[in-house]
This record gives sequence, structure tokens and C-alpha cells, in this order.
Amino acid sequence: MEVLLGACAVTLYGIGDTIYDYASLDGIIPGFSSLADVAYLSFPVLIIAALSIVVYRQMRDRLWPVLLDSLVGTLAAASVVSIVLTPALSTASSQPVSLDSAIALAYPIQDIAMIAVIAGILASQGLDIGRRWPFLLIGLALFTASDVVYALDMTGYVAGSVLDAGWLIGVVAAAFWVDGAARPATGLDRRSRVMPALAAPVVSTGAALGVLVLASQTAVPALAVVFAGLTLAAAAVPLTLRHKVQHTLARTDDLTGLTNRRALNSDMPGYLHPGRRGALLLLDLDRFKDVNDGLGHDIGDGLLRQVAQRLTKEIRVSDLASRIGGDEFAVFLEDASREAAAETATRIRETLSRPFIVGGIAVQTSASIGIALFPDHGAGLDPLLRGADVAMYRAKADHSGHQIYQPEYDDHREIRFRTVQELRTALREGQLVLHYQPKIHLISSEIIDVEALVRWNHPTRGLLYPDAFLPLVEEAGLMPQLAQIVLSQALDQSTRWRSEELNLSIAVNVSASCLQPELPEQITQMLNDRNLPSSVLVLEVTEEVLMIDGSRTAGVLGELRAKGIEISIDDFGTGYSSLAYLRDLPVDELKLDRSFIAPMNEDRRAANLVASIIDLAHSLGLRIVAEGVENEAAYMELAEQGCDLIQGYYLSKPIPAEALSAWLVERRLAAEVS
Ligand code: C2E
Ligand code: CA
Ligand code: CA
Repeated sequence: MEVLLGACAVTLYGIGDTIYDYASLDGIIPGFSSLADVAYLSFPVLIIAALSIVVYRQMRDRLWPVLLDSLVGTLAAASVVSIVLTPALSTASSQPVSLDSAIALAYPIQDIAMIAVIAGILASQGLDIGRRWPFLLIGLALFTASDVVYALDMTGYVAGSVLDAGWLIGVVAAAFWVDGAARPATGLDRRSRVMPALAAPVVSTGAALGVLVLASQTAVPALAVVFAGLTLAAAAVPLTLRHKVQHTLARTDDLTGLTNRRALNSDMPGYLHPGRRGALLLLDLDRFKDVNDGLGHDIGDGLLRQVAQRLTKEIRVSDLASRIGGDEFAVFLEDASREAAAETATRIRETLSRPFIVGGIAVQTSASIGIALFPDHGAGLDPLLRGADVAMYRAKADHSGHQIYQPEYDDHREIRFRTVQELRTALREGQLVLHYQPKIHLISSEIIDVEALVRWNHPTRGLLYPDAFLPLVEEAGLMPQLAQIVLSQALDQSTRWRSEELNLSIAVNVSASCLQPELPEQITQMLNDRNLPSSVLVLEVTEEVLMIDGSRTAGVLGELRAKGIEISIDDFGTGYSSLAYLRDLPVDELKLDRSFIAPMNEDRRAANLVASIIDLAHSLGLRIVAEGVENEAAYMELAEQGCDLIQGYYLSKPIPAEALSAWLVERRLAAEVS
């Protein structure tokens, strides 16, 4: 918009010049009130309008301090220029009232305004009017200087003099600024003008006092005295307001213009009166870190600003909204019931789920909101914030969007928190142990494969099974660390077994988050360190892993397999993926999930289904393992159907390594006896 106005200003000026020149061609010097004058006079008006928009847009949240500074400079300059222009002003105002005399008066007034604006820009602190601001200032100064000289010495003007150069350069410089402002500024070429804090007010008040002193000695235009008086008055305002402004700034979040945490602390008691009620909403953007890291801080900041705007639209003026952390906002809803609070939370989530356009990029986000009710969940800000935080955490964990605090969430959170702490210790101090479950080859009755299953030897809670802690490991981002520990323990065990002449291959479960590009190299290193062949290791991955990021995982799996490590699809049949991956992906083995095995005994169709899957695997050249075989009937049935391997409680539960060695020895002895 400001660019449009600026462009109009320059264009109109050009038109004015053309009219003037055209008229001059006929040998007539146009008098006042020609069309050219209208065009000339609109130049400063439009430029000032353009500037005002820039200033307003930029300084919206701290407009007053800046405007006051500018105003002081503006008024002082106006006062001084009024004296300089005395002759022009008095000539113009002494003429009988007519359009001509009005226009004659308009020129010097326009000059006063222009100089005032220049002074105002210089006086303001931290105003950014585009990277080419010096051009605008110099341009306006030249333009006005020519104007002033012209006004003081109208009769002496000849077309084509230095004055024309001043106007021309002035307009060209303004055009250059307009062009600069039209280009989006990048972070680099934004340089702010640094002015000593009190320079502008001091110079301005000094000038105003000078004018007043002068007025007491000689005749000075009344206009100058008025401006000088106003300058002093305006200069006094910031002094009294400064305290207030600083107070406001200290309470305001710079980025969003909402109140900040400090203001929330000081304002909340005013809202929490006995007998009234309300709701504290704590809002946290989901995956904001991704936006910030991935798209840059400028986009992150822009997003936060827009989030604040949308947030404010969804609440009443009497409610309190503040930004209390990076991407955390708190909203206090006055007089809100449980239902009203939930309703507002839904509305806020809806509005925030619509895409944002930040710096030309569409950014999608979502928010999780925790709600604590006053007075039910706390009588002061702190307990309310804590309750809302617990609820928000819950909302994030179960992807429900928003949650109202419930006392039992506390325990849950505490246990989780403690467990994550303990897990870090467990990983560091070797509290994780592996149990091994054997698989039997149905044709040879040999046992040469085992699966390693992790357990946590918890110092107080005893032996914990994966279901109790793996989700937390995943959530805390500790999965790669766990995989390293499991892999090295399994390979160490393999070395030990080999020294006992036990050549067992070990299957290790790996989750999606572990299938990183560096995994193949790490595993090779581990095998080399122990002088083990790659055939000792099988990796079990689930179908979901293949769906998450097909091409990346396929690459990693392909590399592993090329190194001689076998790949097995775990829990086969439970995923929703298409079977096409069996054709395309590097896979050696399928492990049929135990949910297929359990109903086999009672249900003919279930048994037939298993038989078909076995055939399918074989037709693809894959080995098939039946998991969770708990009884002889299932065992026999699977043997009949041609299943390759069997794993389950029927054979053995997962047991510690030494127990497994002993079990294998016992079995061999029993076989030899019979
Ligand atoms: P999974 O890979 O499907 O492992 C088989 C699970 O079934 C094991 O449970 C095992 O104890 C159990 N199981 C074996 N035979 C039978 C049977 O006949 N009947 C019944 N009802 N269950 C049987 P566990 O040890 O609790 O492990 C659960 C899951 O945790 C595993 O499922 C696997 O997905 C995961 N897991 C275990 N260890 C690791 C590990 O080191 N890393 C990763 N990423 N995941 C692991
Ligand atoms: Ca497994
Ligand atoms: Ca399984």
C-alpha cells in the first residue's frame, strides 16, 4: 500500500511537470491554481501518507513512544521553518482570499510539513522505513530546500536552474526509496538507524526555546510561536508518559504484543476472586521446534505472531492472553464454566489448525491445550498453571487436543517422569538384560536360532517386560541408544556361545527409529570388533517400519542384507500394508503373528488361512516362522502344513543365556538317550 502511494506521488509529480512544461511551451508561465499545482501539491501529501502507513504497520505495538518523539521533532522543525518562511507566508496571507492565494499559502505550509516529517523521522527511535531510507530523507530535503528557496524568491525563478535540479533529484530519490520499499527486505540488509536516546528531544526543545526567546525580542510569525509552544508541551508529555510506557513495555511480549509472563503473574490475582470462577488454558504448539529448526527463526517468529492474533480473536476482551514461553500461551477465561472452557479450547484449536501463510510459505500447525478450572483445581496462579500443564501433557500424549485437569493425571505424570529418569540410569548402568527364546526347525528338529528379547532389571520394581518401558524409551528418543546396547549384548553373547561350541544365530528386534542410514556401518563395526560372521545376526522389523518411509528403510535394509545380515518381518499379518513390499523389499523371513496361531485348533478357517500364508511365503522363496505356539496341537498342525520354524512357550519361554545353554545341553542328552 505504501509502495502504491509512493509510486502515485512520483507519477503525479511527473504529470505535474509535464503539464507545466506543456503550458510553458506556449510561452505562458502558468500562474497559481493550474492543474500542475494540484499534481505538485499531491506529491508531499502522498509521500507523507505512504510514510504514515509504514510507520503504523511497523510500530503498531509501540506506536506512542515513537510518535511522541517524532511529534516533538516535527513541531520544533515547523516552528523554525515558519520563521524562515515568514516573507512567503506573509505575502500569501496578505493577498485577498482566493484560490490563488490559498495555493500560494499551501506551498510554504507544505514545505513546513515536509521538513517536519524529515525531523520526525530523524527523531524517532528504531523506526525502519525500508533499507533505502537515507535516499528518502536526502530526496525530501533537497526537494524542500528548492521549494523554500523558490518560495522566498519567486520572482527570480527561471526554468532550468539549480532549483529544478533540486526538485528533480528529490523526486528521483523518493522514487528510488519507493522501489526499495517494494522489494521484500531480507534480514541482512535491514540496518536500523541508531540515534542517541535523548538527542531528538534535546535539540527540539532547544530550538523551540530559541524561537520563543527570539519572539520576545523581535516580530516572529504567530505560527512559529504556536509551534514552539506545542513543541515544549509535546516534549513534556513523553517525560510523564515515559514511565507509563516503560511499564507497558515491561509487561508486553515483544514478539506478539500479548502480555508476558510477568504481567500474567501480576494481573492474575485480580481475576481470582472468591465466589467467581474461571478457566486457565495452557496452550502449546505441537512440533513448533520442527518449524523453527526446519524453516528458520524468522518463520517461527512470524508463526507465533499470527498464532497470537488468531488466539486473541477467539477470546473476549475481558479475558487475559499472554505468551509465557517459546511456544506456550496462557489464556484466562473470566467466568467460564467447564463446558465454556472446553468450547473455547475447541474453537482455538480449530482456528490454529488452519494453515498460516508466513513469509510466503504455508505452515501447518496444531495446538494441545490443558485446562485447569478456578477454583476447583487451584486458588492461585501457580497451582492452576501446574494443573493446566499436567492436562496439556496428557492432551499431547493421547493426541486428544485438549484435556481438563483431573487429579489422577498427576500420578501418571509423576510415574512417567520418574521412569524416564530411571531409564536413562538403566541404559547407563547396564540394568537392561536380554532373554533368549529358541526357535526350532521342524524338518531337522535342530535349534540353531534364538530371538533376543530385552528386559529391565529394575532395582526396586523387579524384572520389567518390554511393554512396560519400550513406549517410554521411544517417546524419550532413547531407542537408538537401546538398540546399541541390545546389539552389543547379543553379539557378546554370541561370542561366548561360540566359545562353548554353540553356533546360534541371534535375532534382534529393531524399531523404525533405529533404522538410520548409519546403522549398517555400526553393525559391521560391531561384528568386526568381535570377529563374528554376519550370519550370526538376524534383524526383525515390523511391517509398519516399511510403511513409514519406504524408500529410506528399503535402502538401509538392502545395505544390511548385502552385508550378509538377514531381515525378518515381525508380527507378519497384523499390519495394514500392501503385500507388494514382499516382492520389492530385501526380506528373508516372515514371522507369522501369534494372533493367527492361537485360533487354529478350534477354527478350520483359521488353520486354512495359516496354511495359505505358509504357501505364499514359500512361493516367494521366504522362510516362515510361527510365533506364539503354545501347545502340541498347534505344533503338529504347523509341522503338517510345512511351516519352517516354530517359536513359543510350547518349546520354551524366553530365558537368560545361561539357562538356555543348560536347556540345550539337557535336550541333546535326552535326544541321545532316546
Ligand atoms: P515380539 O518381537 O513379537 O516378541 C515376541 C513376544 O511374544 C515376546 O514378548 C515373547 O515373550 C512373547 N512370546 C513368545 N512365545 C509366546 C507364546 O507362546 N505365547 C505368548 N502369549 N507369548 C509368547 P516380550 O518379550 O514381552 O516382548 C514384547 C515385544 O517387545 C516384542 O514382541 C518386541 O516387539 C519388543 N521387543 C522385545 N525386545 C526388544 C528389543 O530388544 N528391541 C526392540 N526394539 N523391541 C523389543
Ligand atoms: Ca520379534
Ligand atoms: Ca512378533
